[in-house]
Amino acid sequence: MEKKLLLLSILCALILALLMGVIYKYLMNQEYLKEQNNFEEQVEKIIESELLEQDKNQIDQSKRGDNQYNKYYMFHSKTENKNTINELEAQTKAASQQMKGFRSIIISYVDEEKVNDTIVNRNLVTKKYIWDKKAKSFNYSGKVIELSEILLYKNRNEPRLKDIINDEADFLAIKRIVQEQVLNIHASSKYTLDDEEINYVLANDFLTNNSKITIYPNTLEVFFDKEVFGIKKMSISIEKILPFINPKIVSDKDVLKKELDTSKKYVALTFDDGPNDTSTIKLLEKLKKENIKATFFVLGQMVDRNPEVAKQIVREGHEIGSHSYTHPDLTQLHPKEIKEEVLKTDKAVFHATGVLPKIFRPPYGAINGSVAQIIGLPIIQWNVDSEDWKVSNKELIVNKVVQTVEHGSIILIHDIHEISVDSIPDMVNHLRKNGYEFVTVSELLSYSQKPLNQYFGINDNRKFK
Ligand SMILES: [Zn+2]
Repeated sequence: MEKKLLLLSILCALILALLMGVIYKYLMNQEYLKEQNNFEEQVEKIIESELLEQDKNQIDQSKRGDNQYNKYYMFHSKTENKNTINELEAQTKAASQQMKGFRSIIISYVDEEKVNDTIVNRNLVTKKYIWDKKAKSFNYSGKVIELSEILLYKNRNEPRLKDIINDEADFLAIKRIVQEQVLNIHASSKYTLDDEEINYVLANDFLTNNSKITIYPNTLEVFFDKEVFGIKKMSISIEKILPFINPKIVSDKDVLKKELDTSKKYVALTFDDGPNDTSTIKLLEKLKKENIKATFFVLGQMVDRNPEVAKQIVREGHEIGSHSYTHPDLTQLHPKEIKEEVLKTDKAVFHATGVLPKIFRPPYGAINGSVAQIIGLPIIQWNVDSEDWKVSNKELIVNKVVQTVEHGSIILIHDIHEISVDSIPDMVNHLRKNGYEFVTVSELLSYSQKPLNQYFGINDNRKFK
């Protein structure tokens, strides 16, 4: 009898527990549905706000999907380029995969921004949102940019180099960077380049204003008008050419100009007429000891005589610029002779160091517009002259510099005189005491110096007419 009663009460308790479980489950389900509704509502809201600024006519196709806890949405126009759709899809799925462990959404679309009257910046945008359970809302957690691609269209035609630059000076600056890259790619495929090959790269117009381009977030791809050593196209880092292109086509805004700290004072030490194998080497030791990077305007004939020293200049982090081959007054030469002076120095420097000079200092500072056009590089003058070539006393050199220096000065010294090199430690001490820091010429000018311009200091830039 007691046994039966016991069994009965166990049964009752079981039924009760089951019932409670059902009720609990029902309530939880209600809660879940409520949250789910809330979730869906928020998703709609986000989609709406994300697409609000887009032209609705441009977005008539959508694709959605689930990846565990992540939902993804992809929007584009019916007439969208197939490659772009594939890129967008790949980018969306990669982001979705990344977010699959989180309750989250991914929204992708083709963002169009008008840069000017002829070009449109098209950007594949993928945005991530993570669900915040407590706040019952989404938190924005950033854009996916690794796989994004920018397409630049001029009336949907292929863009050209001229569409993203301002003038001849921009073109010449980019051309120089491309020339160096072509030489380096070719040099890496064989032991050394001969003179004819370097001539071919420097004298040929395989890159023009009209060359086709494709723009990616961190690189510009240029297609050559004709093949050079079997090379048909090339990627250049956007960071390298940033001062010479329309900044609106740069999607990764982190790639900014290497600006100097405006609260500090800077000067650039420049050394002309070397390198030799005595005082130049002594100077390099002193600069290393002081932890200073300087700029050397070298003579091609000196580089040919002392290639190891030129190599050491570049290896130790200094900047190398061209100062012609034989130090003539260029304004007195025939255009053909000027070209020869520049080309021979380019060859000497490239052979010795693997880099091409990207700045030029004319001997005696003698220059005019037509010479600058032939040279095709930014012209670097000076606004502090140490006058080291005419004195025999290092105190006089130091005093001259210290008395005439200001923030942004470009200081002219010659590394071929022992006395100039001997004056460096005292000069550096004085300048440091007065709060100056030392940078290369390109650093001083934030890498934005252009051909067809001459620079006397940070705030003295004169354009050739
Ligand atoms: Zn000189």
